[in-house]
Amino acid sequence: MTKKFLGAHVSSAGGVENAPVNASEIGATAFALFTKNQRQWKAKPLTEENISKFKQNCKQLGFSARHILPHDSYLINLGHPEREGIEKSREAFLDEVQRCEQLGLELLNFHPGSHLNKITEDECLQRVAESVNLTLDKSKGVIAVIENTAGQGSNVGYRFEHLARIIELVEDKSRVGVCIDTCHGWAGGYDFLSEEEYEKNWTDFERLVGLKYLKGLHLNDAKKDVGSKVDRHASLGEGFMTKRTFERMMKDDRFNDIPIILETPNPELWPEEIKWLKQEAGQ
Ligand SMILES: [Zn+2]
Ligand SMILES: [Zn+2]
Repeated sequence: MTKKFLGAHVSSAGGVENAPVNASEIGATAFALFTKNQRQWKAKPLTEENISKFKQNCKQLGFSARHILPHDSYLINLGHPEREGIEKSREAFLDEVQRCEQLGLELLNFHPGSHLNKITEDECLQRVAESVNLTLDKSKGVIAVIENTAGQGSNVGYRFEHLARIIELVEDKSRVGVCIDTCHGWAGGYDFLSEEEYEKNWTDFERLVGLKYLKGLHLNDAKKDVGSKVDRHASLGEGFMTKRTFERMMKDDRFNDIPIILETPNPELWPEEIKWLKQEAGQ
């Protein structure tokens, strides 16, 4: 029985409908995508053709919405300290949520935000939660999935406590979740390599955030050592986290039935990485 749903963040060049095809070609059973260009504020609306082909391809290739983890634009800062920046971000985030709704998707993965050294971390987290509340009010069905960060620059979200704080302030708890990026966690100071630390960190996660909120994982090795606060992904086994960490995760039932997504730097290795992870999961 399939318990682990594995894939990568695949290209949607030429149209979102190509993402499930690209995912299927690398042997994936889950995938992530951008529903618009991630480095631009504005995007053309999805056409009826994009939408129907996307749904048709997902159905034919066996991808269900809860194993698809779209990622929002890198420009959005839902904790922006200034009025113009936050308004622009909220508008763009609502557009991202609506694109997901149109595609019949249930999850939207986002980076919480940055305080830009103008407000405190907690003020920033409060703004993020307010942004999520405002967006959820204007939409339905999509869960806002907060990704932990490496804590690079003035990014918030590098502690489990930060994720918990946002959830605490989100009014509709049924529409908020989290995605743990292993490289970001490692860079943020969570050691997943030794058996003891691994257990301690996931037990802390359960206590502080709650596994029921875990809607996805990003599986990346790390080019820098633990606690570096530097976000540099490595292919599995080519970084400090080593294959041992990922083997252990594949045997861990806490990560069943959620999208597990590679954002490793070499797409040519994805078919091999997915095959290896499936083997480790006993699939
Ligand atoms: Zn991300
Ligand atoms: Zn990530």
